[in-house]
Amino acid sequence: MACNYTLSFLFYNDFMYKGYLENKFDVIVVGGGHAGCEAVMACAKLGLKVLLATLNIEHIALQPCNPAVGGPAKSTLVREIDALGGVMAEVTDATYLQMKTLNSSKGPAVRALRAQSDKAEYSRYMRNLLESNENVYLKQCCITELLTHNDEITGAVDEYGIEYSARAVILTTGTSLEGRIFIGLTPYSAGRLGERAAIGLSDSLHKLGIETKKLKTGTPARVDKRTIDYSKMTVQDGDEELHFFSFKPNRPIRKTYPCYLTRTNEITHKIIMENLDKSPMYQGLIQGVGPRYCPSIEDKVVRFAHNPSHHIFIEPEGLGTYETYIQGFSTSLPADVQVKMIRSLPGLENAHIIKPAYAVEYDYVPALQTTHSLMSKKIKGLFMAGQINGTSGYEEAAAQGLIAGINAFNYINKSDMLELSRSSSYTGTLIDDLVTKDIQDPYRMLTSRSEYRLLLRQDNADERLTAIGHRVGLVDDEQFFRFEEKQRLIKEESKRLESVKIPATEKNNEILAKYGEYIDRGYRASELLKRTGINYKVIQELDENTKNLQIPAEVYEQIEVIVKYDGYIKRQQDQVEQSGKLEKFKIPENIDYASIDHISSETKDKLAKIRPKDLAQASRIGGIKPADISVLMVLLDKHRI
Ligand SMILES: Cc1cc2nc3c(=O)[nH]c(=O)nc-3n(C[C@H](O)[C@H](O)[C@H](O)COP(=O)(O)OP(=O)(O)OC[C@H]3O[C@@H](n4cnc5c(N)ncnc54)[C@H](O)[C@@H]3O)c2cc1C
Repeated sequence: MACNYTLSFLFYNDFMYKGYLENKFDVIVVGGGHAGCEAVMACAKLGLKVLLATLNIEHIALQPCNPAVGGPAKSTLVREIDALGGVMAEVTDATYLQMKTLNSSKGPAVRALRAQSDKAEYSRYMRNLLESNENVYLKQCCITELLTHNDEITGAVDEYGIEYSARAVILTTGTSLEGRIFIGLTPYSAGRLGERAAIGLSDSLHKLGIETKKLKTGTPARVDKRTIDYSKMTVQDGDEELHFFSFKPNRPIRKTYPCYLTRTNEITHKIIMENLDKSPMYQGLIQGVGPRYCPSIEDKVVRFAHNPSHHIFIEPEGLGTYETYIQGFSTSLPADVQVKMIRSLPGLENAHIIKPAYAVEYDYVPALQTTHSLMSKKIKGLFMAGQINGTSGYEEAAAQGLIAGINAFNYINKSDMLELSRSSSYTGTLIDDLVTKDIQDPYRMLTSRSEYRLLLRQDNADERLTAIGHRVGLVDDEQFFRFEEKQRLIKEESKRLESVKIPATEKNNEILAKYGEYIDRGYRASELLKRTGINYKVIQELDENTKNLQIPAEVYEQIEVIVKYDGYIKRQQDQVEQSGKLEKFKIPENIDYASIDHISSETKDKLAKIRPKDLAQASRIGGIKPADISVLMVLLDKHRI
């Protein structure tokens, strides 16, 4: 009996792991960071056998910089990922230390949820998700070479010479490619602190005709929380009324923890200025351009010399560690200088540094060489997502990873690629910017990058993308049904509010006076809701029926936005329609730009390099003039190309 059991167990294992033993996979994902994890989960959930090759499997979904997810524009990306069936929102909701809605008093386009994460828990939760999927195979190794045949990907080779075959490969290598870390003037080879660099893969890309360039980013020191005097700092609490990233119900309610605020001062700035000759950046040792919106502290002190002080946030890294993140204090100055700098900050006079701050320079693949599906233009079946495409940030990486995963599936199944438009999402905007514009510094998502930011809000990501996620196969029927129910409720309740009359009684005006409002005649509830001081809860106070209906917050909050910003939203919808006209002019892939008259050779070169898919994309290429677009439009129209 026991023997039979053993035999059947062995047979079962052999059967289950056959693909692995033969090193044959559908997809290989290189890199277990934020892009990689989404890509793996998407492919695996769609039924593909996936190898996740990563340098250190203890570092899966590691947050090598700030222990936080979300924030302006990024929160919308996380909710878009959730609506499409990705996992980042779920993992963030399950492992937060604090949730906070930023810009809550401002307009809905810039309102943003931000979670302080427990870094180790986040990583563990993600690894557990990966390992719970029978289609996922983890491997700790460095992929050093890509295998191709007739410009199509066929697999990859690791540092030990082991070959893996696959029909698609997704590169999500983060800051590892030929990475060099700087702490002072002597660099050393590493992708991030405590992890080696990925050597070899860049050369393999070059051999395939794919160009790489260099970028740089940096992170601050981590300090032992037992050596921090929080009494000298300002407490930064999270929200009491919690919001979550995922549209799924029943998110876990956890105990929350505060962050703290301190400031740089004259002494900090003096130490920095006196040591600039030891800064690799200021000594020209780093060629890569750094993130414009996340400058190092030495950069801030030099560039904003008139500013006597900069905010520094002190953020916990997790419950199981004393490590504390010093946000706003990234530097590549030598470790001994860092000690002096940190100890000049109020509350950090006795700080013990656990990990020093550092800068890292790494190879990325300019995404002009990539299509909107995130597949390489040169090598079919080769996808790239995340920092390797020139972005910075976990959320930007995860959004791309999800799209690359979905499209690897589409490529293998010869289905149409999923290409999100700019008007559908920040994810679409991000990818369009990457593949159209010549990005020169690490790209971070900002609300200002979208011309449709009032349409692309965190509250309506489900409305924009759930149907796509369902069609793709990543959103299950249950989630889709819940989404449809929510949309039905929003419609019904909006309509009902149009028929609810609020009379100008003394009692109503007493209630309204609390919110700085007054009415001299009867109003419909939908009209009143347009006023700045009035939200749905006020309508509930004014109208007994509305109070008794018990509409969920996620429904009435969206109704408030739709009603209050109706005019602006309609205007942006008109804009989308206008730009849709240019999108209808599709440009054939094989068009010969060199033979087109009346456009400059510079324009021809740019068009030939980027090969826009339609006139709308062509119009967004830097340096392309309206006159060039007119020439192309006439040509496409005349020849019905
Ligand atoms: C020092 C530093 C500072 C940062 N500062 C900021 C910041 O200020 N703001 C911000 O938003 N973001 C910052 N980030 C960036 C943020 O960490 C990344 O944008 C995000 O993690 C990118 O996700 P990714 O999936 O593309 O890559 P990563 O999360 O970096 O993951 C890449 C993975 O690929 C693996 N890998 C690489 N090459 C190979 C190979 N050849 N074979 C096998 N495995 C491989 C690595 O082991 C790693 O697991 C910083 C990162 C670092 C390291």
